[in-house]
Amino acid sequence: MTETTSLTETDILVVGGGPAGVISALTAAKKGNRVMLVDAKSYEEIGNKTCGDAVNLGPLNFLKENLGLEMPSGEEVADTVESMVFETKNVAYPMYGDGFVLNRHPYGQRLLKEAEEYGVEVRSNTKAVRALTLNGTVVGVVVKENRAKEYEIRAKITIDCSGRNFQIRKSLSDSEFPLLEKNMEKRDIAASYREIIQLKDDHPYGNKIVLQFRNEIPEPGYFWIFSKGPKRLNLGIGWYLDTQVEKGMKELFWEVLHKYYPSGTYEVEDAGGYTIPARYPLLNAVASGFITAGDAAFHVNPLTAEGHGSALVAGYFAGLTAAEAIESSDLSQMGLWQYNERIMKHFGLSHAKIQLFTEALNTVKVSGLEFVLKRNILTQDQFVGLYGGKSMGAIELIKILIKIFPRYNLLNVLYRISRGANYFEKLFDRYPSTPEDYLPWKAEFDKKMQEIRQAH
Ligand SMILES: Cc1cc2nc3c(=O)[nH]c(=O)nc-3n(C[C@H](O)[C@H](O)[C@H](O)COP(=O)(O)OP(=O)(O)OC[C@H]3O[C@@H](n4cnc5c(N)ncnc54)[C@H](O)[C@@H]3O)c2cc1C
Repeated sequence: MTETTSLTETDILVVGGGPAGVISALTAAKKGNRVMLVDAKSYEEIGNKTCGDAVNLGPLNFLKENLGLEMPSGEEVADTVESMVFETKNVAYPMYGDGFVLNRHPYGQRLLKEAEEYGVEVRSNTKAVRALTLNGTVVGVVVKENRAKEYEIRAKITIDCSGRNFQIRKSLSDSEFPLLEKNMEKRDIAASYREIIQLKDDHPYGNKIVLQFRNEIPEPGYFWIFSKGPKRLNLGIGWYLDTQVEKGMKELFWEVLHKYYPSGTYEVEDAGGYTIPARYPLLNAVASGFITAGDAAFHVNPLTAEGHGSALVAGYFAGLTAAEAIESSDLSQMGLWQYNERIMKHFGLSHAKIQLFTEALNTVKVSGLEFVLKRNILTQDQFVGLYGGKSMGAIELIKILIKIFPRYNLLNVLYRISRGANYFEKLFDRYPSTPEDYLPWKAEFDKKMQEIRQAH
């Protein structure tokens, strides 16, 4: 075993300098706390990530209002987004959508520097190995700098923003931390691959992000085309890890890409693949002395796998909750519980509802989606509402029934989404206000989710 020596202590220790970590650190430091942020990457690489690069305006407005952070601008912005298009082979269904396709690296570096201006101490090239615990409380983290010896950083509160591998949470034992989930199922992990390409001529995707649901991609996976400005595109592909596939991800990616841009007509600027935890959020994301946010807490849209915006928002709530707990000298699970309530209200319920939509898509397949879009069975408001988990009234469903002939099975699916959304609204309204009431509530949620997954 590697020798460890105790070296450092701080009020709040943040693991990971992605969007969740950097905003957690900045928020807590702005409130006057001593904050340290460790990241396994070199300082210059922090903020860089293989990504589709799209982010909605909502979370950015949220950061502006709550932290005074300026909107992305200049080299941070590759293109602005004005619409999001759901596409199948025969139908393009444009919906209003506003936001940016970013250049994540300069944006991430700007946020890191702003955090430092508020006094955050950044330790780069520093990998967090595991949590340090004492009687059911997280009291810090064991880290390792490059090839140097392991050492301990002690903290009143540790915030795990280590992304898809949730390094700290998974090192916590069930016996000491029984209310925290430690595992992730294969079917909740999306694998993805993307390339940023430079074209010789301009493309028709300016100000758009396009999600293509295609027969050749394992459902409910998709191919994306995001504009990175004139002559530049970010294109990618993704599906869930539990899917049986006949072809490799890159092979299928190139097959689809070359239908639009044959090889030789573009240059690849950057290429890479990664996994994404794409599921409804952790139902509890706190323990004594511990909070987790971003991908590490499954704060990702279960259908589109967008997680940048929710990581920023969750980061804010993590930093805020940690700062409040320190101020009131209550670092217990109860002292941090409000974080869960904030997450559930802000996007937790909505992500749980999107999970319904995702499961439904799995059932109706691309052909069902195409049928619904092509025949205008849903108005745009209804489609957006359904995707966001808005329940439908009986009259609305009867009107759909008339249009949906002869595919009545689709109505059944729409009805199930609608009922499920209604159920979740009521359940999340009763999200427990103390850890003592959590397990029975979670059992109800799990039962419903299992029912939904079996039905689809
Ligand atoms: C191919 C792909 C495409 C995507 N497209 C989009 C998109 O278009 N829009 C969108 O919103 N989202 C997208 N996402 C998801 C998005 O990238 C993530 O949801 C978002 O980056 C999550 O932020 P985070 O801070 O939680 O984690 P991350 O951004 O992953 O940051 C985690 C940080 O922790 C550090 N770290 C990890 N382990 C340790 C450790 N043990 N010790 C110290 N540091 C550690 C890492 O170096 C990293 O800096 C995409 C993801 C992928 C893979």
